[in-house]
Amino acid sequence: MSKPNFLSKLTGSFSTPADGNPTVAMVEAAYKAANLNIRYINTEVFPDGLQDAVNGARAMNWLGFNLSAPHKVSVIPMLDGLGESASIMGAVNCVVNRDGKLIGENTDGKGFLTAFSEVLSPEGKTICIFGAGGAARAIAVELALVKAKKIIVVNRNIERGEDLVDTIRTRTSATAEFIQWTPKFSIPAEVDAIVNATTIGMEQFEGKELDIDFNSIRSGMVVSDVIVNPPNTHLLQQAAKRGAVTIDGVGMLVYQGIIGIKYWTGLDSDQTVMRNALEEIA
Ligand code: NDP
Repeated sequence: MSKPNFLSKLTGSFSTPADGNPTVAMVEAAYKAANLNIRYINTEVFPDGLQDAVNGARAMNWLGFNLSAPHKVSVIPMLDGLGESASIMGAVNCVVNRDGKLIGENTDGKGFLTAFSEVLSPEGKTICIFGAGGAARAIAVELALVKAKKIIVVNRNIERGEDLVDTIRTRTSATAEFIQWTPKFSIPAEVDAIVNATTIGMEQFEGKELDIDFNSIRSGMVVSDVIVNPPNTHLLQQAAKRGAVTIDGVGMLVYQGIIGIKYWTGLDSDQTVMRNALEEIA
């Protein structure tokens, strides 16, 4: 009889504060289903402790870890290299231990792209993104890297919006346009798909309605939302009423988990197991 192996490999996330992180349930369920002796732990790391936490992960030979705000940018100088899209975005949400080197990747945009591409190929499409924060940057860069024709960024804050458009123009082959958000914003006629990448729609957020003219959503248009809780946002409900094809934020969350697990372990994890784990804690 072979002896049991009591050495666990570690993965996890550095969060501030370490509050309810749905990724934990999802990733641990995937490991368990695959019978892997790997753990995913959500740890509380404050900004002034990030360097020590990264050193600790190195010392314990962690397979990798996720980062939430505010660590996504400040971690970069502590790493040994960056993947292409993380380097363009200037943000890392997933660190991968590759032969002892800690490499920063960004799986948020890749997770979105996987869910989006199941419905529409971004190549040659004009896509309008609401928001210019971390999620919007990740999504815009990934869409541009797979040859979307044009990215339109609509945001309240001009500086953040223009900065994202500048990144797309200078670092990818897509064209990009910034439009400052005006009340009852009307979606331009050239647009094939829209993405809500703002915080609007989140349960704990007061304003749940995107300030757009919902009648400018056309039948057949693809409308996606990054919001996970609740998944069926006001935007998606309005879009469905007008015959649009809708994509909720759960697919993005599950796929970013699947991509992270693949980077860390090589495992192709079971999507159904992960979705069920999310539903159990919802
Ligand atoms: P950021 O704080 O970086 O960006 C927030 C964005 O929302 C900004 O562009 C901000 O605009 C905009 N915004 C906030 N309030 C309003 C408002 N009242 N009207 C118009 N615009 C507004 O957040 P993140 O990008 O990190 O996250 C955005 C959302 O994405 C969150 O809900 C997060 O949970 C979700 N997310 C989902 C993932 C998934 O897997 N499904 C993965 C990652 C994130 P301005 O610049 O003008 O202030």
